Amino acid sequence: MTVMQTFGNAIWNALDGQLWFWIKGYASFILLGSLIWIWTSRRAKGTPYRDLVLYLFPRNLYFHRTMKAVYFSLVPFVFVLLPTFILLAAGAYEVASRTETSLSLWLGHRPEIGTTWISITTQFVVFILSSSFATYGVHYAFHKVPILWSFHRVHHSAEALPPFAVFRFHPVEYLLTAGIPPLFGGVVTGAALYMLGAGQVHPSLIAFVALYSSWEVITGIFNHSHVPISYGWLNRIFYAPVLHQVHHSAELRHRDKNIGGGFNLVIWDHLFGTLYIPEKNETYRWGLNDEEFGDANPHLTVTGFYLEPFRHAWGTISAQRISRRVRGLGGTSTAVKDI
Ligand SMILES: [Zn+2]
Ligand SMILES: [Zn+2]
Repeated sequence: MTVMQTFGNAIWNALDGQLWFWIKGYASFILLGSLIWIWTSRRAKGTPYRDLVLYLFPRNLYFHRTMKAVYFSLVPFVFVLLPTFILLAAGAYEVASRTETSLSLWLGHRPEIGTTWISITTQFVVFILSSSFATYGVHYAFHKVPILWSFHRVHHSAEALPPFAVFRFHPVEYLLTAGIPPLFGGVVTGAALYMLGAGQVHPSLIAFVALYSSWEVITGIFNHSHVPISYGWLNRIFYAPVLHQVHHSAELRHRDKNIGGGFNLVIWDHLFGTLYIPEKNETYRWGLNDEEFGDANPHLTVTGFYLEPFRHAWGTISAQRISRRVRGLGGTSTAVKDI
């Protein structure tokens, strides 16, 4: 088998698994969404069945003009970016094992310490915390580093959140978001494996993460939907969909809040002061900001969606250069992040 065939097979297998994940994810959206509708509308006896369909599939959201570019980008996203993501995610275990091997060669082999139970628990804790921290860190950087924000703006310029908004990403952002957390999680877990004297990641952890990714797909769909699921007081421990829906708010009070950290944890938002628990029935609108809203949204067209981030990034670099020159001449300057 040639290298190309092997690569092609790996891509196809990853895609095949992904398609089923997403089909199950959207089926779960319909099922859970219907249950929520039945729960919330049970008081109004005789509510027509048609209302359930309108609740799950509101035309104004699915056919919102900010969704046009998302539907166009579905084909490259599903056929190129998703398989890449799966290959990178699966690479975390490979990175962990190679890190452990390199450390053993460099520092000498360590005997296995503790019981198997301690070793497995430590691997779970280290892998989940390091991967979720890296996911938080990358998302945080996309908000705070001006040149990265230029690309993440595409995700935030959605003014409607039907469940397909989960695919709204610029390719530059997606590759970094997909690549860095498994790499970081893999290196940290590899270091833990070395300290524990364990040769490789325990199969139960690999099985857990594979199972968990189904849940992450479902929560990802609800996070980017109009169905406001809250976990009540548990919102302070787990990342409920309402927290991410607020993350997409155009309002100033919600800016850079609920950055999330993978594995549906809010621990990093707690630690870094970015947690925002919305009030019950709090109202706000989705979008980038007041200025780049409606007709002024920079990502309404497909070209705007793909190319505007590069123009914006270039503007950011130029502004930074001018700002440095002004400071060099003894003047004062402010940060260049525009919104
Ligand atoms: Zn964001
Ligand atoms: Zn989002």
